Parts: sequence; C-alpha cells; structure tokens
Amino acid sequence: MRNYETSEKLYEEAQDLIVGGVNSPSRAYKAVGGGAPVFMKKGKGAYFWDEDGNRYIDYLAAYGPIITGHAHPHITESIKKAADEGVLYGTPTAYENQFAKLLREAIPSLEKVRFNNSGTEAVMTTIRVARAYTGRNKILKFAGCYHGHSDLVLVAAGSGPSTLGSPDSAGVTENIAKEVITVPFNDIDALKHAIDRWGDDIAAVLVEPIVGNFGIVMPEKGFLEAVNDIVHGAGGLVIYDEVITGFRFTYGGAQNLLGVEPDMTALGKIIGGGLPIGAYGGKKAIMEQVAPLGPAYQAGTMSGNPASMQAGIACLEILKQPHVYEKLDALGERLEDGILKINEKYQLPITINRLKGAMTLYFGSRPVKNYDDAKNTDGEMFGKFFKLMLHQGINLAPSKYEAWFLTTEHTEADIDETLKAVDHAFSQLKK
Ligand code: PLP
Repeated sequence: MRNYETSEKLYEEAQDLIVGGVNSPSRAYKAVGGGAPVFMKKGKGAYFWDEDGNRYIDYLAAYGPIITGHAHPHITESIKKAADEGVLYGTPTAYENQFAKLLREAIPSLEKVRFNNSGTEAVMTTIRVARAYTGRNKILKFAGCYHGHSDLVLVAAGSGPSTLGSPDSAGVTENIAKEVITVPFNDIDALKHAIDRWGDDIAAVLVEPIVGNFGIVMPEKGFLEAVNDIVHGAGGLVIYDEVITGFRFTYGGAQNLLGVEPDMTALGKIIGGGLPIGAYGGKKAIMEQVAPLGPAYQAGTMSGNPASMQAGIACLEILKQPHVYEKLDALGERLEDGILKINEKYQLPITINRLKGAMTLYFGSRPVKNYDDAKNTDGEMFGKFFKLMLHQGINLAPSKYEAWFLTTEHTEADIDETLKAVDHAFSQLKK
C-alpha cells in the first residue's frame, strides 16, 4: 500500500493558505471523488516522484506542455543559460525574432505574431483583435471547448442547438454572455443556423481544430472547411485555438495536419518548453490592428521574456528532430491497442479517442463526437479508475474530460507497465 502521508499534510496546510489548496481548480480531485491531490516533488523524463517518495509514470504532462518529458537536458540547459544571462529585460531581444521565425516557418498562417504569457491571454487577445478588425462584437464558440479563463470564453451554451450564452462563472455578466453564441462541435447545421441569425454581428468563430478539452475529438470530414466557408461568407474571422494542438500532433499546428488555415491562431503550452507562454498571430492585415501599429491594445511586462523564449526554442529544436511524432504515434498505438485487448477480457463499456500521442479513455460505449457525448460517459467509473491507476503509480489527469499525453521520453516498457495497471484496474471495476 502506498503512503501519501506527506501529500495529505501538505494539502491540509495548502487549504489554509491557498484557496481550495490548489492554484488551478483542475488540480483538485473534485472530479474524481475527492481526496488529497498528490504533491509532486520531482519530475524526470516520463516519471514523477511525490513528497512521500512514490514513483509515477506521468501522462498528465502538465496538461500538455511537457511533450519532451520532465527536465529534458536540452531545455534545462537553455533555462540555465537564461538564468545566467538575466531572465527578464523589458527590451526586445534577438531570441524573440529567432522564435517568431521558427513559428512562422512551422505554421505559415502566422504572418505576424506576438508573444505573451498564457493561452488565456493569447485567446483573449485574438478576440479583441478580431473585433477591432471587423467592427463587430459577437463571437461564436463550440460547446465544451475550453479557451482559458477570460470573461468572454467563460460562457456556457444556453438550451437549444444555437443560443446566446449564459455566464459559466460568477462574476461574468449577462451582458458579456449575450455576446457569445455556442453551438455543438461537428454540427454544421447548428453553425449555419447561428450564422443565419447573428452572422452580421459575429466578429469571429473560435474553434479548437482538434478538440482537447472534452477529450481528444477529431473534426468530422469537411467540418473545418465548412466553418471557414460559412464564417467567411458572413464576413467574420476564423480563430484556431491551438493552445493544446500546437506542436502536439506534428511539427506545427493541427492546421498543418488537416490542411485548413484560419485567419488567426492562439498558441501556448508546448511552445514554452514548460515555462509560461502564449502567442497569437495571423494574417498581416489583421495583426496590424495591434498596438503600437493599430488601435487594439495588448501589452505585457513578462511578454517575450528571454527565459520562455529560450526554453521554447529548445523545445521546438527537440520536436524538429526526425521521427519524434512517429514515436509518439507508435507509443500511443501500443497503449490504445493494449487497453482494447485487455478489455476483451473484461468487456467494460469503453471508448478510446486517440490521435498520435494524445488519447482519451471514456467509460461509455458510444462514439464521442461532441460535448454531449463526452458528458454522457461515466464520470464515477472514471473517478474509480483514476484512483486505481494512481495507487499503482500511474498519474493521469483527474477528470474524465482530459487527455493522456505521451512524451518523447516514454518507453515501450513504460506503456507495458501502464497496461499491467490497466488490467488490474479493469478487474477491480468489473467486480
Ligand atoms: N485554450 C485551450 C484549448 C486550453 O486547453 C487552455 C488551457 O488548458 C487554454 C486555452 C488556456 O491556457 P492557459 O491555461 O495557459 O491560460
């Protein structure tokens, strides 16, 4: 039996000091039946060690950024160098040019970029810029997609296939919610309906081109092309939120993989190599709305800091090596096939959505193509599974809506150890 005594003590103390004991709500175990979250002490490669000395194979990857594993030597080196040279200047540096060039080479639709500090900031600003460019106010997004915690995107769908939203958080006003229309992902008819009704007022449609926030969900064939046609036909812009998908599935964005280009893109997570970062960019004429060239204001004391720039560049250098994504895909396939094989024995109702090194295991037997499908899967069973895996040294994200992320440092032996744990967990769930 693993001992979690130190984590439990730290959690008790944290609850007194830090609201809810955590600095981001998803880190609490609320969605998996509660209890003290494990306090990690050290990460190296595919592994974590907690404060009580337990070892874990990590599939959280810090909710996506850690695609090269924890403390990758090349990234560590870049951070040490930045620490030696000074981590924050408040002046332009050559690193910003170098990194912007790398991003534009990888994702050609980023004709101009701007760095900031989080995915939230990046998405928030794309919306402001789209409004500035179009002179319109409303945005449209897809149900269940998470775009950070700025007011406009903390708006839930109303009832019905395409409706004005309602606040999804206290403190978000009804007036703000009225600027947001939400429709189901992969539903072209609902999108058409919304555009027929509000198209003249819609500045932009915000879309995760491959969903990462109710599990990994692919766009159906033709969906993204239809989004472009319909939205452009009504004079609006298309913004891709590639905060999760950027450099996750290929060297570039989901837009490279799928061959569809948006007008603007928001990035974050992986491109910082584990340090705080966001970036947004797009067509030159649109981006020239941004200060100091244009009237749309966006700034940041920490933006483009030399530490995040150098860690990000180092991360992309690793990802640019040959066969990185093939390896992630092969490991993902081994994991997916292994789980399905194990389940031949137990016949639990499961569905796996996987693309390369990112995968979601849902407890439900129906395909998951939109948020309602994901909502209808069994959260209680996932909560039990999560704890059964944790107690065998496998660290997953504590929510049925999250993905398992593989890193370049996972090995076939790690996958096989994970599959053994899955076998035991399924045997317990079957009881
Ligand atoms: N957009 C997407 C698709 C995300 O998954 C997230 C975070 O999970 C964000 C935006 C917000 O990014 P951050 O947490 O860096 O603010």
